[in-house]
Amino acid sequence: MPGSDISLEEIEHALHSGEFCFHFQPKISFQTGRIVGGEALLRWKRADGTMTPPGMFLPLAEKAGFITDITAVMLPELAEDIARLRALKSDIQVAFNVSALDLHSPYLVKMLRSFIGNQLINPGNIQIEITETTFVSQNDRIHATLLDLVALGIEIVMDDFGTGYSSLDVLSQLPFSALKLDQGVVGRMSNDSKNTHIVRSSLQLARELSIKTIAEGVESEGVYTFLLASGCNEAQGFWMSRPVPIDDFISLIKQNPKWPSSELGFLYNAWVNHLSYRRKVMDTVYTMTMTPPEEWPNMPKLDLRHSPAHCRLGQWYRDMSRAGFSEDSYKTLENVHREMHAAGDVLLKTVKAQIDTEAVIAATNDFLRFSEQVDQEVSRIVALSFAEGLRKRDHGNPAPATPSSSRDASA
Ligand code: C2E
Ligand code: MG
Ligand code: MG
Repeated sequence: MPGSDISLEEIEHALHSGEFCFHFQPKISFQTGRIVGGEALLRWKRADGTMTPPGMFLPLAEKAGFITDITAVMLPELAEDIARLRALKSDIQVAFNVSALDLHSPYLVKMLRSFIGNQLINPGNIQIEITETTFVSQNDRIHATLLDLVALGIEIVMDDFGTGYSSLDVLSQLPFSALKLDQGVVGRMSNDSKNTHIVRSSLQLARELSIKTIAEGVESEGVYTFLLASGCNEAQGFWMSRPVPIDDFISLIKQNPKWPSSELGFLYNAWVNHLSYRRKVMDTVYTMTMTPPEEWPNMPKLDLRHSPAHCRLGQWYRDMSRAGFSEDSYKTLENVHREMHAAGDVLLKTVKAQIDTEAVIAATNDFLRFSEQVDQEVSRIVALSFAEGLRKRDHGNPAPATPSSSRDASA
């Protein structure tokens, strides 16, 4: 086993003689193409200059229970690093990996509370990434720690989503703000369509639960662009940057580099959200009309709100002017969208009133007709948005990230 020759004494010595530090891997927003934050990754730089990756020593430290000592020593260092980064970018979001053992006792919350109290960091500057979520969900103390962190305003991220450690069930039980797609699953998309389905279904699931998505292990422009189009929120990976020492991360933030970005993924998200609303209405209508009213309380709960303001599509077109669209281009969408939600409301009220079958059929037809019109309008706007993106590309705005050479590299 790699690293099996490393002893716990060596790890302890390294920690206390300052041989550990963090490297930072930038996280990029697909909406802006800019760095929004980074992940802090532990590095062991030995006195002779050699670097030992965390996978070589963290498992042993974890097994021996020494991981909490590492966290206790390194967290204040991280807070200092974040304070330096904040001076350049006050809203920077730095993700920090913790183990289940760290969540077992209140010290993590205490330390973070004191950093926040001393105004070294803001709660929004730090995110906690956790991996062993199955184990985590079964433990009341850990659950309580996570709730305390959320109460402090700190976001919790489910790391390595798509691997055995993370589970779907846990997503609904714990207060996650984001899920991070595992680098293995993301990387294998280029060879295997099943992995692509897993990634896309995970994005869909996160959308339904209204949580953010971050893709890890983005190693090529092709994967980056596909994730952007699929409506993922943020990306991290070697194609943009490897994890780098703090000084290099600071230089990178100062340079403020821009990777490709587009509104298309967000429009796509809004569209999928709309299709999902239609399905939810129709599935509810089917279940209610095919079961006796005494069964209705047993129906699975669905978040069904008939208001354009609560729907991503509605939220999206309100921001359309920001994307440079004229009001005319989405006025029709706004109208039919409002009518569709009103028709959805009427349909469910008609079903609940149990008046007569013909009234239900008529209300269903109305609802579906408006829904199709919404679909048509969104398709039209997608085509406009796509054409605009193509023209921007041709006019070199923004500067393309050397398309030919990176395409060669990823082939
Ligand atoms: P992780 O949290 O899933 O971190 C992401 C890992 O993927 C990092 O490995 C990173 O270098 C690597 N990575 C990022 N982009 C790419 C890419 O495009 N391709 C490939 N092949 N890999 C990529 P690293 O730094 O070796 O860390 C390994 C694991 O060690 C982390 O996985 C995390 O679970 C753990 N770890 C790291 N730092 C800490 C820490 O401070 N505390 C704790 N408890 N665990 C940590
Ligand atoms: Mg992580
Ligand atoms: Mg990971």
